[in-house]
Amino acid sequence: MSIVNENFLRLDGRYLFQEIEKRVRAHTQSSPQARIIRMGIGDVTCPLVPCVISAMHRAVDDLSHADTFRGYGPERGYLWLREAIAQQDYASRGVVVSPNEIYVSDGAKSDTGNITDLFSPTAVVGIPDPVYPVYVDTNVMSGRTVIGLPSDEANDFVPLPPDDRRLDIVYLCYPNNPTGAVITREALTRWVDYALRTGTIILYDSAYEAFIRDAALPHSIFEIEGARHCAIEFRSFSKTAGFTGVRCAYTVIPHELHVTASNGASVRLSSLWERRQGCKFNGASYVSQRAAEAVCSPEGRAAVQAQTDHYLSTARMIRERLQQMGLRPCGGLHSPYVWAHTPEGMDSWTFFDLMLREAGVVVTPGEGFGACGRGRFRLSAFADADDAREAMDCMERVIKN
Ligand code: PLP
Repeated sequence: MSIVNENFLRLDGRYLFQEIEKRVRAHTQSSPQARIIRMGIGDVTCPLVPCVISAMHRAVDDLSHADTFRGYGPERGYLWLREAIAQQDYASRGVVVSPNEIYVSDGAKSDTGNITDLFSPTAVVGIPDPVYPVYVDTNVMSGRTVIGLPSDEANDFVPLPPDDRRLDIVYLCYPNNPTGAVITREALTRWVDYALRTGTIILYDSAYEAFIRDAALPHSIFEIEGARHCAIEFRSFSKTAGFTGVRCAYTVIPHELHVTASNGASVRLSSLWERRQGCKFNGASYVSQRAAEAVCSPEGRAAVQAQTDHYLSTARMIRERLQQMGLRPCGGLHSPYVWAHTPEGMDSWTFFDLMLREAGVVVTPGEGFGACGRGRFRLSAFADADDAREAMDCMERVIKN
């Protein structure tokens, strides 16, 4: 009798970025002198901003004195950080979120994966295609049926709620990884209305909201009326403030959000999350939380905005260069990601290998994000700006030939 979770055997052999690493390693072994410019993975390159560094130094000092030392903190995060988030990320935009609805964690990847613990293995999950692969893989691991919601230029990368079938859970991510697309207030309202009508729970990932530069676009699903009854929101300091190595994120679960159990009882989802986190999580580190608090200060917000502006200017440059190459790019205006077509419909792994071998540039093959990514690729603007310009020159040379 098998004792493993056989759902793992249904997963693709490797996580997308592991496969990319394997191919890059093979290339550097066979051509050790080759210069490689990494435009693939969405990892930041700018150092932490000064007020965050000072806050982290002070936090380490706290830990080095008996009277200010901290051990385990509250699983849901220190109140001073949750209050700063509620004020800076929500109240300042006219959105009411209580500090008690905020759950601080070590990352949105863990939160978007771990949230699946709260739902039945029989829940039907709608996931846009192309998509951040974590949503699909974590649901496959839990044995759930995943319904792909195709998205492309025709629907501005925002799938419409389906007329013909019920979804118990749906993931939405805007600004979107991988396409860099944004969602309008009208389109998000349509999803919220659908969810309220059908009892669907929306898992809204706004890890890239700090890149939005158009005041008309929503930063949070809780800007939409009724969303407190149907949505959970995930946020992260990773891309907002260069915290991919520091690790701090948070999830918002409104008190109003309930689901119905099979015995008819109404269950508050935040109670289940508290129970889950209390059992399986021991809180984000004190130093990371002090660092995140500094991001929420006026000085921190101005400094990290200058950083996201910098990445956005690289994204615009990439978009323009890909346009000149005839690769029909999109995204990159309110997002660090640019999404484009491969030349003449070449399949995306063939294009990946060609760019690696001939241009020395690592792109992310669109197919790794779902079937709708076939014949597409993603470039990340988190690379150093000079490297990104050089990468565009190298790609152009190969594509022209
Ligand atoms: N959500 C999306 C859409 C992402 O693209 C990423 C990282 O690339 C994450 C979440 C993970 O964020 P974190 O670093 O907080 O785990």
